[in-house]
Amino acid sequence: MRRLLFTLLFGLSIVSVFAQKTYIQCGQLIDVKQLQVLKEKTVVVEGNKIVDILDGFVKGTASDKTIDLKASTVMPGLMDMHVHLEQETSPNRYLESFTQNEAEVAYSGLKFAQISLMSGFTSVRDLGGSGVNIAMRKAVQKGQIIGPRIYTAGKSIATTGGHADPTNNYRKDLMGDPGPKEGVINGPEDAYKAVRQRYKDGSDVIKITASGGVLSMAANGENPQFTEEEVKAIVAAAKDYGFKVAAHCHGVEAMRRAIVGGVNSIEHGTLMDESIFPLMKQYGTYLVPTIIAGKSAADSAKIPGYYPPMVAKKASEIGPRIQNTFAKAYKAGVKIAFGTDAGVYAHGRNWKEFVYMTEAGMPAIEAIQAATWNAADLMGTQAILGSIEKNKLADIIAVDGDPIKNIEVMGKVNFVMKDGVVYKSKL
Ligand SMILES: [Zn+2]
Repeated sequence: MRRLLFTLLFGLSIVSVFAQKTYIQCGQLIDVKQLQVLKEKTVVVEGNKIVDILDGFVKGTASDKTIDLKASTVMPGLMDMHVHLEQETSPNRYLESFTQNEAEVAYSGLKFAQISLMSGFTSVRDLGGSGVNIAMRKAVQKGQIIGPRIYTAGKSIATTGGHADPTNNYRKDLMGDPGPKEGVINGPEDAYKAVRQRYKDGSDVIKITASGGVLSMAANGENPQFTEEEVKAIVAAAKDYGFKVAAHCHGVEAMRRAIVGGVNSIEHGTLMDESIFPLMKQYGTYLVPTIIAGKSAADSAKIPGYYPPMVAKKASEIGPRIQNTFAKAYKAGVKIAFGTDAGVYAHGRNWKEFVYMTEAGMPAIEAIQAATWNAADLMGTQAILGSIEKNKLADIIAVDGDPIKNIEVMGKVNFVMKDGVVYKSKL
């Protein structure tokens, strides 16, 4: 009898734990695949998965949880395809590379990861840091820290003296000669070694700096810095390990080589022109615009002493051009995935990119699609993420109001669920 009672109670409690469902009542629900706003739906979550989407506002049984988002617009968790969780812009940034230890980088990164998630970004691609970003991904996965799903490049790959060569402009005795292990290559053989090293380090994606960049201590912000053969070698090596390749790129010739070389996305794409749009379409390459980074760097360049003079010059010339390029690329039919270069501006303001994208002529619902469905496509995770559908992972957010009518409400995230766990609920 006692045994029966025990089995009954124990058995029941297990059943109830597993059977508890969460009913999310959505005033509006964005279908990012069909580009539709659905009214009055209930999304049912069990464990870490979406198990049903019902018409109307439905409540479960007494043991189930109900979340009232009747006054909100619900959508898939947002995805930022270009962030740097190890850093945040500051006039001290160049000095900090000499003074900060890895542990300090990690502790400040904790805040950046948390603020990204609380702003509704349930997945991010970290496109370059020291490798602390790999440790951050592991810590999030283990539940030791709060943050988005992180897909990280670890240390990005440059060529000698190029954007992301870690010792650019250093004093001679500090400069050394960084190689593939440190993310600096010269020639196809180095390319293989650098990609394989990233595999060994635990990276999820490969990032190359195909052209000069704005914030590095080098004269040119747009020159090509990889040969076509080097890009092809990177891409071929990446394929062996199931990596996608993202290419930082401002200048046209660098872009041409990167696209023809087979990269999956062009980051920034600042000087992209009519010669590049058809190539992007032909190769199916995504543009990750990062308009906010360009604008923010140009603004910071106006503050005396914020950047070294060499950087300030490039920031004010290159930064403001991204939005206009994005407008043209969108019109030309280039595939767009949302990305902001968070860290170049203060983390947590990622949502502003939606405002800039719509200003440039992209409808709000397409901008949201770029940050969900398209982003999942770029990451190769559409089977599990990027839309609110049965059997997908429960990464769900809501904003206070209607972003289709007023895009500024993307900055008013009032609900965040990642992997079925509620991290934010202002209701
Ligand atoms: Zn970046």
